[in-house]
Amino acid sequence: MGALTCATRSGSEILLPHAAVDDLRSRVRGGVLRRGDDGYDGARVVFNAMIDRHPALIVQSAGVEDVRESVMFAREHHLLVSIRGGGHGVTGNAVCESGLVIDLSRMRSVQVDPVAQTARAAGGATWGDFDRETQACGLASTGGIVPTTGIAGLTLGGGIGYLNRKYGLACDNLISADVVTADGRLLKTSPEDHTDLFWALRGGGGNFGVVTAFEYRLHPVGPVLGGELIFPLDRAKETLRFYRDWSLTAPDEVRADATLLAGPEGPALAIIVCYCGSIEEGERVLRPLRQFGPPAVDTIAPSPYARIQNLLTEILAPGFCHYWKSGFFRSFSDDAIETLVDFFAADIPSPFAAVAIEHLGGAIGRVGGRDTAFSHRRAQHSCLVLRAWRDPAASQANVAWGRSCYAAVERFLEQGVYVNYLGDEGESRVRAAYGANYQRLAALKQKYDPTNFFRGNQNIQPAET
Ligand SMILES: Cc1cc2nc3c(=O)[nH]c(=O)nc-3n(C[C@H](O)[C@H](O)[C@H](O)COP(=O)(O)OP(=O)(O)OC[C@H]3O[C@@H](n4cnc5c(N)ncnc54)[C@H](O)[C@@H]3O)c2cc1C
Repeated sequence: MGALTCATRSGSEILLPHAAVDDLRSRVRGGVLRRGDDGYDGARVVFNAMIDRHPALIVQSAGVEDVRESVMFAREHHLLVSIRGGGHGVTGNAVCESGLVIDLSRMRSVQVDPVAQTARAAGGATWGDFDRETQACGLASTGGIVPTTGIAGLTLGGGIGYLNRKYGLACDNLISADVVTADGRLLKTSPEDHTDLFWALRGGGGNFGVVTAFEYRLHPVGPVLGGELIFPLDRAKETLRFYRDWSLTAPDEVRADATLLAGPEGPALAIIVCYCGSIEEGERVLRPLRQFGPPAVDTIAPSPYARIQNLLTEILAPGFCHYWKSGFFRSFSDDAIETLVDFFAADIPSPFAAVAIEHLGGAIGRVGGRDTAFSHRRAQHSCLVLRAWRDPAASQANVAWGRSCYAAVERFLEQGVYVNYLGDEGESRVRAAYGANYQRLAALKQKYDPTNFFRGNQNIQPAET
């Protein structure tokens, strides 16, 4: 007989008898790992190397019933829980210290119906899994631009990607979702079933339960016209002004993200472009951008969509410490451009740092701010300050640079923030992330998770209306 020290949801510690862990093991098909077990250390690693948490238990769920058993077990023993999808959340909310991780990373199946143009994906699938299966049928849906990112966290927070101006956010393409709620029920949510919960899942993050399957609408996509334009940093201001004017009138088929970049090859302005429409029309639309300057490098060419989805895979590889801070531009004004480039050029960070101006608008804005839980529908450009480094001892200086960069541009940003880019930034920023929908979300949290069982997230506090 022995026992495992575990964290409870109230913040205290309990001793969980090993016999209880053995009982859990006998109830699930997947693995149950604890400290010292083979695979434990690999299973607790997430994308952001700043995170180094030691869960008491990691349940590597093999299916929906394992998820239900994990929820019931954690309830019975009052354990702190977290849900792991792709593990890319920058805060590391996928893993909890001394609690129980409901790990879906073994549930990665993606089934495509090429006739109905839909895909059903398990809650631990990544965008790499999703693109691979859907592109086999010449189809796609808006998804993350790095293949290792989980579909779950990304979709539940909204989900931007290269197709977002043409087909909306990832959550806008959701047809249904299966959810295990805090009381252990499995609910199908859709425009017909549990519609309030379906609304909350499209922007409300992982607050409402464990989503075991997502069903998406697909669209014929590819080949696309895409690639990279690289401009020298000393021409960044004029190039960004041109990019801003061009991007504001560009058709929905194109998303072009402009990024001030300090990487191993030195500082530069990179514009990554994806045009999903006729190649001839794309050539015409992209010509002014490609002729401006002209760029030092132009890799734009007809390409499989999956190749464009892979452009950042190497640069955003796991294993680095990350600090992110972001917002939506009120307007990407000349003043904002001047400030941003001056900040970047004054003290060029040693690799790796980026300030990404992401191209939104189009179909995103044609959905009402109250129609889904994702409320930031009007922004045309977002701003993501991203700093990455290898050596944890260098964290302070790197985080300080990220904070200063954000402080320099903050006055040009809306109050709202994209929940999927939010760090541990306090209660007011969490409220800003859910914006005008916070109260409705809090009431639904009260309905579906009144004890705040699912609190390892950008947390919505349950509240009576
Ligand atoms: C390299 C990189 C590239 C990115 N690119 C994009 C991008 O192109 N577009 C974009 O919009 N965002 C992007 N993001 C941000 C991304 O949307 C978030 O990091 C998102 O949380 C990732 O989801 P995940 O499942 O991998 O994360 P996880 O860390 O596993 O989870 C994040 C949150 O979601 C919850 N969660 C996870 N799975 C489930 C589930 N099955 N049911 C209920 N809750 C769950 C977790 O508990 C946690 O609170 C990127 C992030 C990284 C690190």
